[in-house]
Order: sequence, then structure tokens, then C-alpha cells
Amino acid sequence: MSHTTHCTVCHADIPRVFVEIPGVPVLCNILWPTAAEAQSVRRVTIRLAFCERCGHIFNPDFDLSLMDYSQAYENSLHFSSRFQQYAEELAQDLVTRHDLHGKTIIEIGSGKGDFLEMLCELGDNQGIGFDPSYIPGETERSRTEQIEFVQDFYSERYTDRSADFICCRHTLEHIEDPVAFVKMVRRTIGDQPTTVFFEAPNGLFTLHDMAIWDIIYEHCSYFTRYSLAYLFESCGFDVTDVRSTFGGQYLCIEARPKPDAEITSAATWNQPAEISDDVTEFSRRYQAKVVADTAMLDRMAAEQRRVVIWGSGSKGVTFLNMLPAAEAIQYAVDINPRKQGMHITGTGQRIVRPEFLRQYGPHDVIVMNPLYMDEIRATLARLDLAPILHTA
Ligand SMILES: [Zn+2]
Repeated sequence: MSHTTHCTVCHADIPRVFVEIPGVPVLCNILWPTAAEAQSVRRVTIRLAFCERCGHIFNPDFDLSLMDYSQAYENSLHFSSRFQQYAEELAQDLVTRHDLHGKTIIEIGSGKGDFLEMLCELGDNQGIGFDPSYIPGETERSRTEQIEFVQDFYSERYTDRSADFICCRHTLEHIEDPVAFVKMVRRTIGDQPTTVFFEAPNGLFTLHDMAIWDIIYEHCSYFTRYSLAYLFESCGFDVTDVRSTFGGQYLCIEARPKPDAEITSAATWNQPAEISDDVTEFSRRYQAKVVADTAMLDRMAAEQRRVVIWGSGSKGVTFLNMLPAAEAIQYAVDINPRKQGMHITGTGQRIVRPEFLRQYGPHDVIVMNPLYMDEIRATLARLDLAPILHTA
């Protein structure tokens, strides 16, 4: 297993390890046709380290060789209306503010192309999407000739595909060496005035809001606004904006290439002292959270209550795998039809559609993402069900 004793953003020595999470599967979003296959996956312990210098949080043991983003990898969030609305507003905002009309847009890690398609339709732009997991012809909707998909990682091989705008959402946190990656992007831009937009989970949200179920092995980095800005500033970009979005869960950064691609100290962003206390506090509350959720699950099991979780994404997978007491839960609900009928990696619960709950009649529903609470309550009401809702 690889191991680094240096911060993966600023390369400072000996970051502090503040939490260890045992028993999590190496890949959260793989779909398994049978419970037996799901239960055969490799599990690991995640350790998280904090860099006092640039404010970065990362997994020092991350081993890229354990990752296999095959085509069974499914992490599309576009089936939720709440997320869909956010993506549409974001696309409209980017098109308006950056005057993306008749331009060429590259999306790195474009998945199935939902977001790139929005950007292209809104501004009559040309799109090039890069994603090794893209499957030609799989998409449901008819594509216009506006978008080209490249089934590969974005790299300097594609420097000839110049773009006016490069966007990259929920990819940076998966990259083992973010400095090498952002420098590569900077080199592909050359002397073009290309604006870049990156979005990643907000590491401070994970700490502040005890979103411990967001901690997954695939995420080797948990960016804070400081470490994200430091990264781009130190890789030849001028950061023009860093903001949190989606109820604080995401960080968005926009940057323009510095003319000389000069590496600077990024001193203006180097002020993470306030985060240090959060990290210490998180480690204490993390233990308390595990104890409390275990007690809740034990109580439900003792009363022989039928319990399901709602949400089979990363949060649900981590919750089920990390807590031995979650073993009594048999089903995970998900509105994504690509997941229904499949099994949760590691623990093997079957993923069901909401309508299944009519026959199952759960007493309790544990909601993995509180942002979807209203949406879930409305769905249950339509099914004439009124289980007790809990947040994990
Ligand atoms: Zn650092």
C-alpha cells in the first residue's frame, strides 16, 4: 500500500491523522447483481490527515491501484429533482456569467454527459466530454451533434482540443496527485484565455455537519476553500472565485491561467488556523456519532422494526458498511432505476424502488441525505406510507 507523509496539495511534512474508519469497501458506487458478489469486495480502513499549512484533508494511505472505475460504476445524481435543479441553475449561471454562447466547452469526468448537455443547450455551445466510463450509445436521450464524447482520461494527449471553458465536477477529490493533475490542465491550456470551473465536495461541510458518511475510500482529498485555492494558485492559475453551494455541501472554484504559469506562494489563501479546532472536534464527535447510531439501530432491532435506508449512494454504502449494527437492515431505497435490483457493495442489501415499500411496510426510514427529506416525505405520502423518518 502506498503511503505519503506529505500533504498532497502543499507538500508540507507530517500532517496530523485525526480519524480512522474501519471496514469500508474500496469502491462505493459499484453495482452488484447478487448479494454474494457484493459481499466479496475488499474492505479497508480509511485514515484522514489534516495539513495545518494549507488546510487540506486527505487520505495518506490512498492506493490508486485498488481503484477500478469500470463501466458498472454508477454515481449519477441526476435522478433527484433537488440535485437536478441545482445543476440546471449552476449551468445557467455559468453560461450567463462567462458568456458561454457559441463556444467550445470541455468537461473532464463528464459521466453520462448530463451537465455538459445542459451547458451546450443553454448557450448553443460545442461540447467535448472526457470520461473513461462513458459508454457510447448508452444514453437515453438523443444527442445532438453538439457533443463529442471521448472514452478516456483527459490528458496532454488532447492539448489540440482547445476550449474556451473547462469544467470538472466531482472528479478532483478522486485524484491521487491533484497537483500533477491541475498542472497538467494548466499545460493543456497553454496561452489560451480558458476559464476553468471545478466543483468538489466541501471538506468543511463534512467536518461541521458531521457528514461522516461522505467519507469514502474513493475520495482521497477533502478540499477546504483554502486548500482548493492554494492548489490552483500554486499550479499557474489566478483564482477568481471560491464559494460553497448546494447547502454548503460543495465547493466551486473558478480560475484563469496566469500568463506566465508561474508558481506562487498562494499566501492570501493560506489561513486555515480556524479549521484546526474543527478537525479536533470532529474526531471527538465522530466517535459519539458511531455510538449514537449504533444505539438507534440496536433499539430498532430489539423491537423487530422493519428499517430501510433511503439513498444507496456513497453515504448509504458507508453507513451500512461501517456500522455492524446495520446488518439487520435488508433494503436500501433508491430512485435511480439503474441501481434498482442491484446490491449494496460490501454488505449486500438489495436496492429497491420506492414503490417496493408498499409491500414491505417499513416502520422506519433512515434518510442518508437530509437535503432530500421533503422529497422523500412527499414520495412516501404518495405511497400512503407514514414511517418514522430519521436522519443518519
Ligand atoms: Zn498542505
